[in-house]
Amino acid sequence: MKTIGLIGGMSWESTQVYYRLLNEHVKQRLGGHHSAKVVLVSVDFAEIAALQHTGNWDATAAILADAAQALERAGADFILIGTNTMHKVADEVAAAVSVPLLHIIDVTAAALQARNITRVGLLGTQFTMEQAFYRARLEAQGITVMVPEPEERALVHRVIYDELCQGQFLAASKQAYIKVIEGLAAQGAEGVILGCTEIGMLLQHGDGPLPLFDTAELHAEAAVSMALG
Ligand code: GLU
Repeated sequence: MKTIGLIGGMSWESTQVYYRLLNEHVKQRLGGHHSAKVVLVSVDFAEIAALQHTGNWDATAAILADAAQALERAGADFILIGTNTMHKVADEVAAAVSVPLLHIIDVTAAALQARNITRVGLLGTQFTMEQAFYRARLEAQGITVMVPEPEERALVHRVIYDELCQGQFLAASKQAYIKVIEGLAAQGAEGVILGCTEIGMLLQHGDGPLPLFDTAELHAEAAVSMALG
């Protein structure tokens, strides 16, 4: 079994989910007392969030590159960045280490392709929904990306930072997200990417009219496949 290196803490709420899923998948695959070999470097999300919101992505890249190097020194065979938004600097992080990076967007694209979905709605932070890095990588793999209306994007973003990343999962926010998904479905989306690693704690499969592609879930499952070969 390979050792999984996880850059976590963005937020720690979703890092807990990753840790549980990595272990559950290893147990499912190997049985008995088997559990995942994991090295975790967990950052201070307040520092990252402040840099994101002032557009200082170079500084975030430096923090994550340091984290990746620490993981490599600690024996990680490959690296996960446990957040969609921070894949904006995935190339810089990958360049800082000699082990591979398992990219969350590629894992998600593969899951969509396996279900023959080519038109998909995207929920995530405004950085993820509005900047080119996320959409372009999906579109390069033949997937058309639809995002909610501007005021809906602001709501989805606010709920992520003010509620989900602080461990609050409110029924009203869940209903608001389902309404946004209904709007995407009405415009022809065939599925929805939960493109923020905390959204899977708010919505469950079967909520709303479309299949949900939970990036934390897909990323953790793909990591275990990579670890077990
Ligand atoms: N975990 C979230 C994501 O997947 C948001 C936190 C962050 O900005 O990194 O994008």
